[in-house]
Amino acid sequence: MKIAIFPGDGIGPEVTAQARRVLDALDLPGLTLFEGDVGAVAYRRHGHPLPAETLEMARAADAVLFGAVGDFSCDDLPRELRPEQAILGLRSELGLFANLRPAAGFPGLEHLSSLKPDIARSIDLLVVRELNGDVYFGDKGERDSTGGREGWDAMSYNEAEVRRIAHVAFRAAMGRGKRLTSVDKANVLETSRIWRETVIEMAKDYPEVELDHMYVDNAAMQLVKSPGQFDTIVTGNLFGDILSDQASACVGSIGLLASASLGERQAEYGTFGLYEPIHGSAPDIAGQGKANPVAAVLSLAMLLRHSLGREEEAVGVERAVEGILADGVFGGDLGGSASTSEIGDAIVRKLLTIS
Ligand code: ATP
Ligand code: MG
Repeated sequence: MKIAIFPGDGIGPEVTAQARRVLDALDLPGLTLFEGDVGAVAYRRHGHPLPAETLEMARAADAVLFGAVGDFSCDDLPRELRPEQAILGLRSELGLFANLRPAAGFPGLEHLSSLKPDIARSIDLLVVRELNGDVYFGDKGERDSTGGREGWDAMSYNEAEVRRIAHVAFRAAMGRGKRLTSVDKANVLETSRIWRETVIEMAKDYPEVELDHMYVDNAAMQLVKSPGQFDTIVTGNLFGDILSDQASACVGSIGLLASASLGERQAEYGTFGLYEPIHGSAPDIAGQGKANPVAAVLSLAMLLRHSLGREEEAVGVERAVEGILADGVFGGDLGGSASTSEIGDAIVRKLLTIS
């Protein structure tokens, strides 16, 4: 098995270094690690945020662990050379159409949530967001109109696109609480009508999964009112962008949450994916040992589970993280003083004691 690690910019290298230590501590047989450049660091070294050799490394790997990209010093560059192009390029080149973002409350950290503690405690959900379609990728432009300049962005989904993301979501729901909520706006949008009808059609293949449907406005309200009702949510690119950020605010610090982006090969066992924290490069705290590496370590746990089929090790890493949080090993984002490497030390130590 080959794992490509792309640390990137800002706190990316600091947090992926801790994830790598955790991976080393697991001492898995037959694993080869490669490191590649992405983002501003790649632009400076190779003249492009996603160099051809990095893309080749990703294609040859079974999984990618991604840090973060972004750097203020690149603000004047043309769009195609900006660090952010690295992640967008990887998603499209590797056909990563499904973004999985688990959001679960951590015991003892309820005070960090934007919700009341007893409500925060009840959150344990997964947002499955479509990543390659919708209004972001439709025909768009600007024209003159009688009302001045007019912009438009076409929203579209075809049945094949809905089917492939729904498959990922139904399968994910099977591995969780077997409940799937499909979020759309089918009372107004044609896209959503096709979406809903296709998801209903597919439900026949997953009789164990209890499916329901929710309009996105109601889903946004329910998510803050009673998030405990959700198990797995599947939705399009635009609605998923908004709902997954909302779900993360319900849990607490941005330094705690991981994500996986999966592609066609997800349909097979031992499947390719790209794993990254939901946070960005955090230039304001970079290089100071203040970054919380938990999101990167939990991204590694998702990698172990989805791409390496190592459920037991994935659970071990998650337990170790929960353990150090229960012990009160907090970084600055959680009101504590532990440094990035001290949090990494504690996770490795916990992992070795519980396994
Ligand atoms: P992007 O556009 O790449 O998503 P962003 O503008 O959303 O980036 P982040 O880089 O995610 O911003 O940072 C948002 C805030 O959260 C910053 O104040 C940053 O310091 C803080 N932050 C982000 N990640 C962490 C972390 N792992 N540990 C501690 N604080 C963090
Ligand atoms: Mg952001």
